[in-house]
Amino acid sequence: MRRKLAAGNWKMNGLGADLAELDRLCAAHPAPNCEMLICPPATLIHRAATLAEGTALRIGGQDCHAATSGAHTGDLSAEMLRDAGATHVITGHSERRADHGETDAIVRAKTEAAIAAGLTAILCLGESLAERESGRTLDVIRAQLSDSLPEDFSGETLVVAYEPVWAIGTGKVASLDQIAEVHVFLRSQLLERLGADGDLIRLLYGGSVKAANAAEIFAVPEVDGALVGGASLTAADFTPIVTALD
Ligand code: PEP
Repeated sequence: MRRKLAAGNWKMNGLGADLAELDRLCAAHPAPNCEMLICPPATLIHRAATLAEGTALRIGGQDCHAATSGAHTGDLSAEMLRDAGATHVITGHSERRADHGETDAIVRAKTEAAIAAGLTAILCLGESLAERESGRTLDVIRAQLSDSLPEDFSGETLVVAYEPVWAIGTGKVASLDQIAEVHVFLRSQLLERLGADGDLIRLLYGGSVKAANAAEIFAVPEVDGALVGGASLTAADFTPIVTALD
């Protein structure tokens, strides 16, 4: 049985004062049945993790470097994130692929580093609008998955998030049929690669998820939760999404 996951990605948003949102979130969901995760900016991970200690809330990073240490100014290793209190890290988010030229090979190396450091990696993939409109969605997803999946992983160490690039931060949500098609395809790919263990990997949908559409998205086959950007910034917005998953 796959445990549902409601994951929030604060992106480059959040100052110390915003940690109060995490207190509100924990108060609203003292013992959720699903897993609840917030990935704040790196500057807040340690404080967020300290605040979340003893609660059901988990704290994650938004990216990590593939190396364990070294001359990489401004970067953070997966071990550093773990040391700061993170339990998860997002890898391959489309904004990092676009802004930092991250290829599938880089994403794969980061995902492997995350798992090696004891973190659960949330590996993001998804097609662009041009790729969807030219009918190449499933080919793109197949290639991204096979090229960015780490060598060794399990349902404990890896989560896959399907995030159509055109639906992130745009207010455009993929239709339920589009979400179902890709999630069922991802599941079949994972079963092909891992056998029955492919059923243990959680699949999240991400792209303009909010209170108003969360319940119908969570009812789509093979959707085990969501990766949420904008609507994870406040407890008022994220709480109903967690409730819909619970
Ligand atoms: C995201 O950042 O991964 C995301 C899905 O953002 P939003 O929910 O704002 O579309």
